[in-house]
Amino acid sequence: MNHFLRKSLVAANWKMNILPTEANALVRQLIDVEWTSRLDVLICPPFTHLPYLIDLTKEGILIGAQNCHINSFGAYTGEVSAEMLVDIACSHVILGHSERRAADFSENMVVSRKIQHAINAGLEVVYCCGETLEVRESGSENQFVANQLLLDLKGLEAEMLAQLIIAYEPIWAIGTGINATAQQAQAMHLWIREQIRHLFNEQCANNIRIIYGGSVKASNSEFLSLMPDIDGVLVGGASLIPKEFQEIIKYFS
Ligand code: PEP
Repeated sequence: MNHFLRKSLVAANWKMNILPTEANALVRQLIDVEWTSRLDVLICPPFTHLPYLIDLTKEGILIGAQNCHINSFGAYTGEVSAEMLVDIACSHVILGHSERRAADFSENMVVSRKIQHAINAGLEVVYCCGETLEVRESGSENQFVANQLLLDLKGLEAEMLAQLIIAYEPIWAIGTGINATAQQAQAMHLWIREQIRHLFNEQCANNIRIIYGGSVKASNSEFLSLMPDIDGVLVGGASLIPKEFQEIIKYFS
């Protein structure tokens, strides 16, 4: 099975950018383009922006958060739970982003619990994995990513993978302007699909969407969109620039 049989996904990770009151107008500009029913478009703003965007779900735009906690409720100052996101009609959450893993090393220990909790609460998870530059230069990126998948996806039942999207985000390509080539990304996506086959089953491997993230722009999207195991993109910086994002949508539509 190739990506023509899986629905593509173009996801925006706004990180900690723009003001909540500017968010709705920006999304309107970002999506001011036609796309087919073969594509999902997901916007992940900071938590504070979610109430300003949630009405867009009625127009078929998916709205997600950039993190959530491992528990439902309790004395966890500054945290937001998956249940709270579901309650305001949020459908997705990004988990395991390298910027969160870098901000708090203990994040690595809780990614698998967060994924399970979020899926059980009813969210679809955009789970991020990917190697550092050192790992890539040492030639051990496949082993590194296989190990991340093994640790982070442990405890998931095969049927839970219907609510999982994997984002391969090589850390050396995030926010650096240096993207993995389409061939490098394709090779890793194929490897990730093999790991899913090994950890779960053939059906999960064929069905799971694996998207690429790391300095995605309009200029490198066409090649990425042509690769059989690249089912879409997770876009940081360029997801704040309407012309760029519109072009990316067009390539994956
Ligand atoms: C990201 O943060 O997920 C990302 C891919 O960022 P950028 O596109 O800016 O590299």
